[in-house]
Amino acid sequence: MIIVLQSNATEENIRHILEKTEAMGLRANVSRGAERTVIGLIGPEDKLQVVPLEVFPGVERVMPVLAPYKLVSREFKGMASEVKLGGTAVAGGKRLVVMAGPCAIEGYDMLLSIAKKVKAAGANMLRGGAFKPRTSPYDFQGMGEEGLKILKAVGKEAGIATVTEVMDPRDVELVAGYADMFQIGARNMQNFSLLKEVGKARKPVLLKRGISSTIKEWLMSAEYILAQGNYDVVLCERGIRTFETETRNTLDINAIPVVKQKSHLPIIIDPSHGTGKSSLVGSIARAGVAAGADGVLIEVHESPEEAWSDGVQCLTCPQFANLMEELTAVARAVGREI
Ligand code: PEP
Ligand code: MN
Repeated sequence: MIIVLQSNATEENIRHILEKTEAMGLRANVSRGAERTVIGLIGPEDKLQVVPLEVFPGVERVMPVLAPYKLVSREFKGMASEVKLGGTAVAGGKRLVVMAGPCAIEGYDMLLSIAKKVKAAGANMLRGGAFKPRTSPYDFQGMGEEGLKILKAVGKEAGIATVTEVMDPRDVELVAGYADMFQIGARNMQNFSLLKEVGKARKPVLLKRGISSTIKEWLMSAEYILAQGNYDVVLCERGIRTFETETRNTLDINAIPVVKQKSHLPIIIDPSHGTGKSSLVGSIARAGVAAGADGVLIEVHESPEEAWSDGVQCLTCPQFANLMEELTAVARAVGREI
């Protein structure tokens, strides 16, 4: 249920509504916008129906949330969210978030060298996997905790916030000790135990869209995280599986404005996994920013031909720097900045 307050509602009005609804066992979320305050309520619908919320002082109107996802829905909050990711990185503000780095952490020197270069080019987050979800059990599975230690040390040394994938609910605490943000990979988008576990943690979460998931399923997965009390979720469109075989995945540009209409959560795009080919990454990154994405995630490697995973889709450091210049111009054209 959503309570839209009158523009002249007072703090006393808000406190009164919160006292009454919380005493009924309802959870309230207050969003203070520039013009209006909106209170979202979660709890047993039957309780809400017997309380004439419309007559409370300061209330303009009361509406049900029709979407199956409640906390995540745009109406529930009434405005877009800004999510702090660590360091200077914020998703959902005017400035875009740019996450860059190798697919997998391969060692301290390589990561530090990439971190310094992507930061100099304008990235505000360093990415790199220590736990890799590989299709084959015989492929490199990631450096594990040793990789996490490298990520933390490099993030500190280069002065850049970090994001890394967590694949197992048992590793959430471990990863939280080393990184600024969790990544939930596409293959784990509906791993509900994992979603609940990161929902209990007090760190932002990058939730990638499942390989064959609808936008609704994706938003329901985000709801799992918010329902545990963690509101710091950023969505990432990384391409879905279609009948097309020219590209690794089909990056769904439509998802950007659709998510913006349906949810208050920021959304970024990952054209690296979304195309699977380094020669296509720039075009799709530019398209995503033009379509209103709140940022990009780009795989970068000093020497893609020697990368331990996803070399075919990695940009080199100079290619990344070049892309950042292009993205700066596109961002400016749509009222954003890098
Ligand atoms: C990754 O970011 O390296 C990754 C494995 O992504 P996805 O889950 O989107 O495949
Ligand atoms: Mn990868």
